Amino acid sequence: MKPHDTILSAIGGTPLIRLARASEETGCTILGKAEFLNPGLSVKDRAALSIVRDAEARELIRPGGTIVEGTAGNTGIGLALVAAVRGYRTVIVIPETQSDEKKQTLRLAGARLVEVPAVPFSNPNNYVHAARRLAEALAATEPAGAFFADQFDNVANRQAHVETTGPEIFEATGGAVDGFVCAAGTGGTLAGTAQSLRALKPGVTIALADPEGSALHAYYTDGALKAEGSSITEGIGQGRVTRNLEGFRPDRSYRIPDTEALGHVFGLMREEGLSLGGSSGINVAGAVRLARDLGPGHTVVTILCDGAARYASKLFNPAFLRERNLPVPSWFEEPPGALP
Ligand code: PMP
Repeated sequence: MKPHDTILSAIGGTPLIRLARASEETGCTILGKAEFLNPGLSVKDRAALSIVRDAEARELIRPGGTIVEGTAGNTGIGLALVAAVRGYRTVIVIPETQSDEKKQTLRLAGARLVEVPAVPFSNPNNYVHAARRLAEALAATEPAGAFFADQFDNVANRQAHVETTGPEIFEATGGAVDGFVCAAGTGGTLAGTAQSLRALKPGVTIALADPEGSALHAYYTDGALKAEGSSITEGIGQGRVTRNLEGFRPDRSYRIPDTEALGHVFGLMREEGLSLGGSSGINVAGAVRLARDLGPGHTVVTILCDGAARYASKLFNPAFLRERNLPVPSWFEEPPGALP
């Protein structure tokens, strides 16, 4: 393998991994795209690189300029590493309720953090609106200007998946992909991958896996944005049709409860050496549902978005799970036993 010029060329080109138990249970081949192997350890590195490249091409950002984004984590980490290599600074506006692990990871990726109270999108003080205003203010005061990355409504996000994720899946399966399913946060991964897979493989079935508390499942099945319940997963679920979702429609939609997603997260950790975050669990649950709907013999691909380490104090904390009436796997708390 040739040396990489910078860490940026290590973004993308992730392997597909066969998920043994899910495949055996359904009689299908279920493959997870290992996005946790990106340099920033998540699928969002692809969007971050694409957003920065697009801003450079459109001359929206100048050398030494500041990239501002409202994000609860992964996009900020991706932007911070892209910005470091390309010579920009990063300011991340984050709801103060986010985990300390995430805040620390953002700082270690080189970002400056501005913490704001967690309020809904309809409130003008929501972190996304606060980030936009901060970008406008910094554009006027910073000598090299500032740029608002705007991951939800900037379609350079979706374009990353049109150009890379979809073609990589088509190629790695030798064109044999029958179904693709994932959750949506900004919707960039789902809508972008769907766009390129539908062009490369007419007839491919595209499905949304939606957590509780998201309005998209109701929107695609009944036509009205309506959210019910809640989820401990992070980075997914959406209450509106973002610009990245405009023009997109899934062929199927599944509403996945946390208990179903967590069963996959813990099973994959214990039995298949895959240490994953909650959104990957929603995705694998969606892949199992889609495989059952398509029937045995099909190939279904989903996204393994990020790793468990980012959620150690939550998803993998028995007290946190118990407080929410979520199952704690017995092996999680097994005493280590006496040393010989
Ligand atoms: N999983 C995780 C852990 C994420 O951080 C995100 C990004 N918000 C997603 C899934 C969803 O990706 P997208 O924004 O492309 O819909």
